[in-house]
Amino acid sequence: MTLLEARALDVGYPVAGAGLFSRPVLLPIVHGVSLALHDGQTLGIVGESGCGKSTLGRALLRLVAPTGGQVLWQGQDMAGFSAGQLRRMRAGMQIIFQDPVAALDPRLTLGQIVSRPLAVFAPELTRADRAARAVEALARVGLSADFAGRYPHELSGGQAQRVGIARALIGGPKLLICDEPVSALDVSIQAQVINLLMDLQDSMGLALVFISHNLAVVRHISHQVMVMCLGRVVEVAPRNAFYARPLHPYSRALTAAVPEPDPRRERGRIGQSLPGELPSVLNPPKGCVFASRCPEAQPRCHAERPELRDFGGRQAACHFVGE
Ligand code: SF4
Repeated sequence: MTLLEARALDVGYPVAGAGLFSRPVLLPIVHGVSLALHDGQTLGIVGESGCGKSTLGRALLRLVAPTGGQVLWQGQDMAGFSAGQLRRMRAGMQIIFQDPVAALDPRLTLGQIVSRPLAVFAPELTRADRAARAVEALARVGLSADFAGRYPHELSGGQAQRVGIARALIGGPKLLICDEPVSALDVSIQAQVINLLMDLQDSMGLALVFISHNLAVVRHISHQVMVMCLGRVVEVAPRNAFYARPLHPYSRALTAAVPEPDPRRERGRIGQSLPGELPSVLNPPKGCVFASRCPEAQPRCHAERPELRDFGGRQAACHFVGE
């Protein structure tokens, strides 16, 4: 079943205009992104910093309002959702953030933090019911009941991310949007958190949108990989096909280096393997978003933007793929 679908989604932020009294202008960040995510599947979204992948994740959850296109949750366009429908949708789709410690309120116990969403999603529950559900959620992520009485400052980074996952799970979601969920963690802890997410996916049938710089981690967890460059999708492919033979020159540049087990070094390698500077979103190129850095660029690339085209179960946006 298709849980989440985006159709030609645009997202932008208002920024101050050039003059003192100018009206704000819209700064486009995400352009025309379409995707579909099914029960129990993981979509990995990769790209350099500033490519729009985190903004896309927030727009899917409607934490940011799209400026164009549609997001459908279980087949229904979210734009027409009532407050009650949005609340139910948010119980079904939760987000995990990059910095696990910053995402936890230091004044609350972990039991209070984890059970807090229930005040919105299940207001009929008593305080004792909520506390019991928090202990269950903590157990699901491998933390014992005594953690419910502790405070965030008592946790390691890995434990804090487990608490973040427990909080995301407590409303019984069908989908988790994981925005760089392990990039602030040590390598050994990263593997534990990734394996936990995969175990939860197996046991609960969760779908995941996994946003990351880290190509090695995306390879491990994803069924489908989507590559973004300057707010646009340039390639989408099943995981094995993508890593065996990326079609787009940008994807090839990202995957050129052998995956590095240390994700911090892996993240650095993305930038190192690509020549030149990422173009500014304030002055995007007229043609292909990768043209200024592409070793295969030709005059047509600077003048004409390539469409995302099908190549037998996968898609790429390059004039010369398939020639
Ligand atoms: S369209 Fe041109 S610039 Fe863009 S990826 Fe393809 S070859 Fe490179």
